[in-house]
Amino acid sequence: MSSDFDIFVIGGGINGCGIARDATGRGYSVCLAEMNDLASGTSSGSTKLIHGGLRYLEHYEFRLVREALIEREVLLNMAPHIIWPMRFVLPHHSGIRPAWLIRLGLFLYDNLGGRKILPHTKVLNLKTDEAGVPIQDQFTKAFEYSDCWVNDARFVVLNARDAADRGAEIHTRTKVVSARREGAHWSIDMLHSNGDVSTVTSRVLINAGGPWVDDILNLTIAQKDAHNIRLVQGSHIVVKKKFTHERAYFFQNADERIFFAIPYEQEYTLIGTTDQDHKGSPSDVVITDAEIDYLCEGASSYFKEPVRRDDIVWSYSAVRPLYDDGASKAQEATRDYVLRVDGDDDEPKVINIFGGKITTYRKLAESMLEKIGEAIGIKGAPWTEKSVLPGGDFDATKFEDFLSDVREKYPFLEQAQSERMARAYGTKIYNILNEAQKPSDLGEDFGEGLTEAEVRYQMEFEWVCDIEDILWRRTKLGIRLSDAQVNKLKQWMENK
Ligand code: FAD
Repeated sequence: MSSDFDIFVIGGGINGCGIARDATGRGYSVCLAEMNDLASGTSSGSTKLIHGGLRYLEHYEFRLVREALIEREVLLNMAPHIIWPMRFVLPHHSGIRPAWLIRLGLFLYDNLGGRKILPHTKVLNLKTDEAGVPIQDQFTKAFEYSDCWVNDARFVVLNARDAADRGAEIHTRTKVVSARREGAHWSIDMLHSNGDVSTVTSRVLINAGGPWVDDILNLTIAQKDAHNIRLVQGSHIVVKKKFTHERAYFFQNADERIFFAIPYEQEYTLIGTTDQDHKGSPSDVVITDAEIDYLCEGASSYFKEPVRRDDIVWSYSAVRPLYDDGASKAQEATRDYVLRVDGDDDEPKVINIFGGKITTYRKLAESMLEKIGEAIGIKGAPWTEKSVLPGGDFDATKFEDFLSDVREKYPFLEQAQSERMARAYGTKIYNILNEAQKPSDLGEDFGEGLTEAEVRYQMEFEWVCDIEDILWRRTKLGIRLSDAQVNKLKQWMENK
């Protein structure tokens, strides 16, 4: 392990990992520390959309929406295994927003950001279109538009993997407990999971702590009284499939909020999200009864079959680290990001990230690299726009061809297993399956197509330490595996 770096990044969410990757690719030496697992904070708790944010147009966030719309296809080309196009059906609700306003929003949406792959908006007749089948009869008309879906937790890991492959040091289960200015450098203490503390130095410090960004300023850097962000909790529920097609729904609620119902993990529907101010630690977020009621009631006002508490098979919650712009309602606080450089002219700088979206993480990293260049000198040029993430080196419009190749090479895989793995790993699937010719060549079978070969790969290349990392972040098999299967996996990992 080195002990002197150009850049030290606190936080292994999408922003920290994206910055580490971009910076390493430009030739800087980079160290990143994440106190838990990669993506264990906000970055695995999102709605998982790479989207312009149709709703943000109402708040005149044109800069953000335009940047995000353009990013959709950039990111789709970077990682076509974990990101894919999705069509959204927005039933017209005469009592909420007028049709002309939605048409205007969708016109801007279609035209603000360049589109080559994603199809444009169209109008649907819900009496004849399959999308109308699960929806209550009073909704007769809908708009259908494009955005993309992302496997958020894997997106983070792939950025970290690529950064590490290019030379970054990535430490997980490593908390930054103190950072002090010493002459021209930062001196940074990291507490490792075995209790050891190690110290490294760096020329610039990046505070990518997401919801913990103010805690890091207050406690770790000892810069008292930082209050820059507003924590806004968002929760999601997962229920058994409410519809059979592959499109998602964009529903408007009477309180002017919107929420989604999205096809999820083949057999389920993901419903979310909520917006409620969160007081207390970002580590203590759990869905509340009120949020469950809100989501069930909202979805039941659109679906013919109501959504009940008993239908919920899983839920998750996270807090948005929104830049505190003084908005009165949580849903009105800006979703844009702010980068702030702290430090006098002759001092080493800390650059803080407030806010941001998964969708805009790559552009955020580019803006951050400009600030880093000003602080410690420019190295390299922007390079990530045309890059690919590990496993993403195939044509974004040809996932089916890639999947067919996988099935031809490994005919013994179950259909669901081959699709899940091709989606999760892209072309890296070949590094996991290698020369396997039959199921037993993949070692122990933990259920639902999860085998020893896959878990070994995750442990060696994806920083998996704990069973939770596998069940809820590298895969979502936690929803499906039985207690006995989970115990078998746990025991196998303990004996490793
Ligand atoms: P995080 O992912 O929270 O990462 C910060 C990391 O810092 C954490 O992992 C934490 O453990 C670590 N850390 C903190 N303190 C320390 C320390 N002292 N030492 C070491 N590590 C530390 N965006 C979209 O683009 N599309 C969406 O559909 C979308 N939906 C969302 C829905 C919800 C409900 C929420 C909450 C957010 C959503 N977002 C969405 C926004 C997006 O998820 C966040 O903006 C993004 O994940 C923030 O990433 P981050 O890296 O800044 O923070």
